[in-house]
Amino acid sequence: HGIRIAIDGPSGAGKSTIAKRVAARLGFDYIDTGAMYRSIGLKMARSGFFGEDGMHGGAVDPSREIDPDRLSSVLAETEIDFREGKVYLDGEDVESEIRNSEISKAASACAQIGIVREKLVDIQREIGSRKNVVMDGRDIGTNVFRDAEYKFFLTAAPEERAKRRFLELKEKGQDVVYEDILKDVEERDYRDTHRELNPLRKAEDAVEIDSTHMTIEEVVDEICSRVTI
Ligand code: C5P
Repeated sequence: HGIRIAIDGPSGAGKSTIAKRVAARLGFDYIDTGAMYRSIGLKMARSGFFGEDGMHGGAVDPSREIDPDRLSSVLAETEIDFREGKVYLDGEDVESEIRNSEISKAASACAQIGIVREKLVDIQREIGSRKNVVMDGRDIGTNVFRDAEYKFFLTAAPEERAKRRFLELKEKGQDVVYEDILKDVEERDYRDTHRELNPLRKAEDAVEIDSTHMTIEEVVDEICSRVTI
């Protein structure tokens, strides 16, 4: 296998921005596992698993009961790929469709389902078996690559994370309210840390970095200074 750098942490801690830059600096592949859960969430929304509405880009109800047999056959026909840092769902570039609050909900709901995690973890391990990777997510250091060469746990205060996401979505022209985003962040933290399957937690041997008062560049420097290739 290649060299594996695991970066875990709660949503909005800056993992993807930082992981992308670390990968570029070291010449590694960047693998965004959140985008994989988001893509499955999108497919499930389109297939009506979270209510009729979700199919047309409307509201996703994450508490909907999921039919396991139907999900299993949908997953069997689902292909997730990474090319040049972008995720492809059944060959389609879905990047522009997975970064919104409805798909965030769908992703976090599908991330609690065993057969979804098994499928995605298999793909993640396969990629790490043949490349040097920077992989970001929730369970990379604790589950996907328990023996990763380098592990980092990136955190920031919930208010700071909500502020960053708010500014990011606003920049994209989305009509967003800070309080709603903070509520989403807190709910997602709760679901990610309390779920039964591979809950979000710091691996014992991970280096924790609190980015609340750090710039992106400072965090990237901190991580790269610990990696020898
Ligand atoms: O990181 P991002 O916010 O894009 O991830 C979307 C959702 O996917 C998270 O809220 C989390 O529930 C789930 N996820 C996960 N395990 C990972 C990556 C993401 O459960 N390794």
